Amino acid sequence: HDPVVVAGAGQAGLQVAISLREDGYEGPITLVGDETGLPYQRPPLSKAYMLGDMQAESLELRAAPFFADHRVELLSGVRVTAIDRLARRVALSDGGSLEYGHLVLAVGVRNRVLACPGADLDGVFTLRTLGDAHALRERIGTIRRAVVIGAGFIGLEFAAVAAKLGIAVTVLETAPRVMMRAISAPMSAFFADKHAESGVTIRFGDSLARIVGDGRVEAVETNSGVRIEADLVLAGIGVIPNTELAAAAGLPVENGVLTDALLRTADEHVSAIGDCAAYPNPFLEGRYVRLESVQNAVDQAKCVAARLTGKPHPYAAVPWFWSDQGPLKLQIAGLALPDDESVLRGDPASGAFSVFRFRDGRLTAVESVNKPGDHMSARRILAAPPTVTPADAADESFNLRAIAK
Ligand code: FAD
Repeated sequence: HDPVVVAGAGQAGLQVAISLREDGYEGPITLVGDETGLPYQRPPLSKAYMLGDMQAESLELRAAPFFADHRVELLSGVRVTAIDRLARRVALSDGGSLEYGHLVLAVGVRNRVLACPGADLDGVFTLRTLGDAHALRERIGTIRRAVVIGAGFIGLEFAAVAAKLGIAVTVLETAPRVMMRAISAPMSAFFADKHAESGVTIRFGDSLARIVGDGRVEAVETNSGVRIEADLVLAGIGVIPNTELAAAAGLPVENGVLTDALLRTADEHVSAIGDCAAYPNPFLEGRYVRLESVQNAVDQAKCVAARLTGKPHPYAAVPWFWSDQGPLKLQIAGLALPDDESVLRGDPASGAFSVFRFRDGRLTAVESVNKPGDHMSARRILAAPPTVTPADAADESFNLRAIAK
């Protein structure tokens, strides 16, 4: 597979290099990343770093000597601009090009941006990169009122930090509950209550009409006609996978660069991993899924490195995720569908409990808050081969093949 070229030097891209060396690969590795500086972790950007509890250097995933010590060439501030699959060569934004034996696409996602009037005013932010976080952190030290668009993970993590810093925060959410795509109704209700208790106002079923101000944000107007005074607007309205590079090279893309169970694209010399990749997920009967989590980025990188060093196996790691919102640590193991059943374990009033999710009587996911023991057990339970219950056996419509992996 010599040489290995990795497009994208984030969580997944760097891990490919780390794991290739751990697995004994001796050939050249080049990491091409369009951000400047060393690869860093994003989760603290909306948590400890935003709060001011962490310095930028502590975000680095590996210190500078790692790259020389492990013969990993890092081209930072450089974009891969095109892939020539026939010649097995990528073109770079600095005018150069690189030949590859194997190419790994680990180019991540970019934030959706607001399209309403006033979206270009000073004081409107999104949060993905260290640059975004730095700018936002500087600004929140100077403001009193913030509006967050979207009650997803990043929006709510930011809301919790801002509220803790004494900022009046309003969250606008079109859906009827928080983190609706990712968690159960009872867990949503718990988090909505806790955010309200810490002073965050959440407006459900309302959306942003326009942002007003003279050069700088002064207020937000919603589609229900409400005006909310604000010095800052943070848009947490989802992401767009960076699929253009793959699509331009003729590789199939949908909601992500499509791969097989071994994380190979339609071209066996090109893999795709992390936030940008959609793969057939064994936890959802082989449905294509694109996950946005550190676990997925790291484990997919390890899976590709194992294949490139002669130990191929399908990607089947149990998905898990966490989100810290103020004093609450949410942890999710597994993957549930929206209408999976929810069973409460423990008392939400105690502030530490779990919600177990089931589909057709089988455990699909466990959502825990301040219950790390439940989360760790759930990861082990979900990793074990699924069993057939008596009810499953008697039910001819029960999909045996889906669990007979
Ligand atoms: P990234 O880490 O985003 O790396 C992709 C890199 O590729 C980027 O640097 C990008 O600029 C670069 N790139 C794009 N196109 C090109 C190109 N053509 N050429 C070269 N380089 C290119 N996950 C959790 O599990 N828990 C959390 O609590 C959590 N919190 C988060 C908080 C924030 C604020 C954010 C933004 C994300 C959070 N995540 C969290 C998600 C997690 O950070 C991502 O899932 C993870 O970083 C994905 O890794 P990746 O390598 O696929 O993408």
